[in-house]
Amino acid sequence: MIAKKRTIPLEILIYDAVVRRLPDRHPRKSEFESKLIRRKSGFKGEKELDYYLSQFPDEDFTIIQSLRLPHYDTHFQIDTLLLSPYFTVNMEAKNHAGEIEFNNEFDQMIQRYDGNVKVYSNPVLQAKIQTSHLYNFLSKNQFPPSPLEYFVSISNPQTLILNPSRSQEVAYRVCRTARIPYKISDLKSKYKKVNWSKKDIKRITKLLLKKHEPLIPDTSAMNIPYKDLNPGIQCSKCSSFGMERIYGTWFCQSCSHTSKDAHIPAIKEYFLLYGNTLTNKQLRLFLQINSDDLATHILKSLNLISTGTTRNRLYHPPKDFFNLKKDPIRKENHE
Ligand SMILES: [Zn+2]
Repeated sequence: MIAKKRTIPLEILIYDAVVRRLPDRHPRKSEFESKLIRRKSGFKGEKELDYYLSQFPDEDFTIIQSLRLPHYDTHFQIDTLLLSPYFTVNMEAKNHAGEIEFNNEFDQMIQRYDGNVKVYSNPVLQAKIQTSHLYNFLSKNQFPPSPLEYFVSISNPQTLILNPSRSQEVAYRVCRTARIPYKISDLKSKYKKVNWSKKDIKRITKLLLKKHEPLIPDTSAMNIPYKDLNPGIQCSKCSSFGMERIYGTWFCQSCSHTSKDAHIPAIKEYFLLYGNTLTNKQLRLFLQINSDDLATHILKSLNLISTGTTRNRLYHPPKDFFNLKKDPIRKENHE
């Protein structure tokens, strides 16, 4: 059973909006493009893991995708957590391209790709630290002890994985994503003792989901060149901005494409880029429309949460606004 499903991280949606709204010749366009590609690649690795786990459903397993728990003044994040009566598994997904070398001596992971060398902290150590935070969390909440395991899954089948110091820890903890279900099935033969009843697992899941705090990116720290972003509604067919409203339909002057709801992704982008409040005037400026009535009509049609009086009404996105079917990621071929 999947107790919590992964959604597209807001960070990806924000970078996607910046990239699409920055003019092509903008000096910082490639900087944001590479940030977007990196985040999307990480997300793709997590989705791969979801896919392989979904191929081996087991009624003993409860899966929580993307969990972020408070830890003192900060948080720790778990990509995928599998709970069972016998054991628990924390899985960290990685999707690095090229060659990755695990160097246990100094706890680093070295990536060689496209002639570049990059050093990362060792994901095995990362997963180990998260797992001990989870252990403390569970014992502090008086749940009976149960074995906690952790793995690092490498999603890209073209990645060359190296373990030159022949670390047994790396050999055991790091594997291809496709191998993960078999690792878990090995654990099932290894750990037979029931440590958690079904009721325990329900209680643990409930508590974890209650304590989960999704990451809300701080756009002020992202150094977004706001004044250079294109306003207006983007055509989903030819990508040019400035669709116009003609008789209740958005019309693209460049390619003549029409759309009834092209304003929805634009308004989502507004909230992603500028924060959680929107006024009638801000909407007109952002969508490049003149009519006050049209703006009001659009705002009302979206079932946004509104606060304040008629004159100074503020609109806010509802909780599930960013998971509507029409999500703004249209170009899936960035990788
Ligand atoms: Zn067009």
